Amino acid sequence: MNYHVLTLFPEMILDGCNTSIIGRAVEKGLLSVEAINIRDYTTNKHFKVDDYPYGGGAGMVMQAPPVYDAYQALVEKLGKTPRVLYMTPQGTVFNQKIAEELAKEDDLVFLCGHYEGIDERVLELIVTDYLSVGDYVLTGGELPAMMMIDCISRLVPGVLNNDVSAEVESFHDNLLEYPQYTRPETFMGKKVPEVLLSGHHANIEKWRREQSILRTFQRRPDLLKDAVLSEKEREYLEKLMRERQ
Ligand code: SAM
Repeated sequence: MNYHVLTLFPEMILDGCNTSIIGRAVEKGLLSVEAINIRDYTTNKHFKVDDYPYGGGAGMVMQAPPVYDAYQALVEKLGKTPRVLYMTPQGTVFNQKIAEELAKEDDLVFLCGHYEGIDERVLELIVTDYLSVGDYVLTGGELPAMMMIDCISRLVPGVLNNDVSAEVESFHDNLLEYPQYTRPETFMGKKVPEVLLSGHHANIEKWRREQSILRTFQRRPDLLKDAVLSEKEREYLEKLMRERQ
């Protein structure tokens, strides 16, 4: 997977993507992260990339030409037109399903806005996906891009030590993950659930699935309508619903 981030703050992207699991995956050559400075493509002698909005109003707007030229240079280098994800509070809210779909691409371009955003005309020309990290407004698209890069990268084969872990985590099958425990066996008088010490894999698996359903029911019931459940699990969920009533 190759990420190309169009930004006014390349150091922010490079600093954020060169540590921990993502940094190691970059070192191993499983991922690459390129931060392209939009400012390098301005023809303004003062390196300006923003201007006042037509029609008036607060703040500045990033100009279309440097964004378009940075994108064109990338397309020429790659020899193809990749998906361009514009980070915007006006986009579809990013989730695990979108991450799974994006992880299938070879190249992804993240376009980060700043100030009041980017001139609409260049967005119309180059953007394929409008994505948000949630219903709140940040100062720039860099943190959203890094968040999405982190999430998508975990799904790229080889990035996690144990590829299975991404498959049983929260949001897979539209369920939250079951609670996790590690040593010591007793902490502040609280014991690890007995079943986890039993060594009985089928019972452990059943307990974990039920805990996932219970936790999703308690914390994110909105997810349950699309959850993938067996007949027995559905009966368990119905029992939880009856008990609540
Ligand atoms: N004026 C814009 C609006 O109301 O839609 C908000 C601009 S915001 C201050 C500056 C930039 O931050 C945006 O262009 C976008 O790239 C990024 N941004 C802010 N909030 C975001 C969010 N929730 N998700 C993704 N990107 C966001």
